[in-house]
Amino acid sequence: MFDSLSDRLGGILDKLKRRGALSEADVGEAMREVRRALIEADVALDVVRSFTDKVRARAVGVEVVKSVTPGQLVVKIVHDELVAMLGSDADPIDLNAPAPVPILMVGLQGSGKTTTTAKIAKRLTEKGKRRVLMASLDTRRPAAMEQLATLGTQIDVTTLPIVAGQSAVQIARRAIEAARFGNYDVVMLDTAGRVTLDEALMAEVAEVKAATNPHEVLLVADSLTGQDAVNTAKAFDGRVGLTGIVLTRADGDGRGGAALSMRAVTGKPIKLMGTGEKMDALEDFDPKRVAGRILGMGDVVALVEKAVENIDIEKAKATAERMRKGAFDLEDLRDQLGQMQKLGGMAGLMGMMPGVAKVKNQIAAANIDDKVFRRQVAIINSMTRHERRNPKVLDASRKRRVASGSGTKVEEINRLLKMHRQMADMMKAMGASGKRGPMAGLASMFGM
Ligand code: GDP
Repeated sequence: MFDSLSDRLGGILDKLKRRGALSEADVGEAMREVRRALIEADVALDVVRSFTDKVRARAVGVEVVKSVTPGQLVVKIVHDELVAMLGSDADPIDLNAPAPVPILMVGLQGSGKTTTTAKIAKRLTEKGKRRVLMASLDTRRPAAMEQLATLGTQIDVTTLPIVAGQSAVQIARRAIEAARFGNYDVVMLDTAGRVTLDEALMAEVAEVKAATNPHEVLLVADSLTGQDAVNTAKAFDGRVGLTGIVLTRADGDGRGGAALSMRAVTGKPIKLMGTGEKMDALEDFDPKRVAGRILGMGDVVALVEKAVENIDIEKAKATAERMRKGAFDLEDLRDQLGQMQKLGGMAGLMGMMPGVAKVKNQIAAANIDDKVFRRQVAIINSMTRHERRNPKVLDASRKRRVASGSGTKVEEINRLLKMHRQMADMMKAMGASGKRGPMAGLASMFGM
C-alpha cells in the first residue's frame, strides 16, 4: 500500500541524509517535497499541513548531537512525526471485560467486514486461546449469513445458528445469551453493511450497540477507497462511536492516504490491517513498524536513537559553543573521544549506517578504532590539568612523563597533539566563517 509513497519519501530523505550541513532553506525545500508526496498519496490536507509544520519546527532548531549529520537527524524527526501521525503505539483489541466480551463489527458492504470478523475470530481462538462465538446480524442478506457460517466451519469457530425472521437486535441478544450459556470468552457481532452510508444503516447499528454494550466497536474500512474510508470512519464514529479501525486491502495498491490520515482525522486507533483474502492475512497495526516500512530508513533511525541515547546533550552543546569560539582544548578532545567510545566504537556505529563501506575503510586506514580511542584517552588522563588546557606547554620532558604514565610512546603523543591542533584549527575556521554548524564539522571530522 505504501510502495510509491515510500519511494518518494525515500528519494527526498536520501538527498537530505547525505548533507553534512543543512540550512533552513534546505529543510524548507525538503518539506515542500514531502508535502507534495503526502498529498499525492491522498493524505488529508490538514494532516499534511500539520505534519510538515511539526517537522519543520523541530528540524530548524535541531539539537546538537554529535556523530550524526543534521540530515540524519531530520530523517529521524520525519520518522518520529510519522509514528505520531499513525498513532504512536500499537493498540491491540482489548478483551479486558467480563466474558463474553462483545465485539461489534461495522462498516460498508464490501469493505471486508465478514472476512475480517472471521480473521479476528481465528486469531483470538488460535493465538489468544479464547473461545469465540460469531453471529451475523445481516437480516437482509441471507448470503452474508451463509458466508460467515462457511468461514466459521473453515476456521473451526462456532457461528450462531441462523433463525429466520429475527431482527438484528434480536439476533444480537440471542448471540450474547448463547455465548453466556456456552461459556464463550468473546462474541463477535457482524452487523449488516450497505453500499453507501445511510441513516437506516446507522440507526440499526446504533440500536444493536445500545442493546449489546460492546466492549469494542471496530469499523472495517477499505484502504483502497482513500479519503472515503476516512469519511466513513468519521460518520460512523459520530453516529455510533468507534473504539478502533481495521484497514483492509493493505495488500492492494492503495496510496496509503487512508492509513496515514485515519488516526489524525478521527482520533481513533487503527488496530489491525487486512493484508489478503486468506484467513491469516491480518496484521497488528504498529505505527513504528509501519513508519519504518514507509521510510525504509530503519538503520538511520536506529543510529540517531543510539546517538541521542548515549550523548549528554547539555555537555555537547557546551562543547560545541566552546569550539565555535575556538577554545577547544585536550579536555574537550577527551570528551569527544569518550562520546565516540560510548557509541559502541566506530565499528558498531559504522555497521548501522547505510552505504558506509568506503568510510569504514578510511577509518580502518586511519587506525581509528576503539583501542586507539582508549589509548588516546589514557594519554590525556596522564597529563596535568594545566597541560590539558594548554597543550603548548608540553615539551620533550613532559611528553616523556606522559608517555610513561600512560604506557604509550612519545610519537603517539605527538600524533594526538597534531590531531588536536588540526581539529582546533578547523573548528576555529568554521566558527569564524559561521557557515557550518559545529555538528557538521564534527561529523565530517570523524569521517561521516
Ligand atoms: P463485507 O461485505 O464487508 O462483509 O466484505 P467481505 O468480507 O465479503 O469481503 C469482500 C471481498 O474482499 C472478499 O472477496 C474478501 O476476500 C476480500 N477481502 C477482505 N479483506 C481483504 C484484504 O485485506 N485484502 C484483500 N486483498 N482482500 C480482502
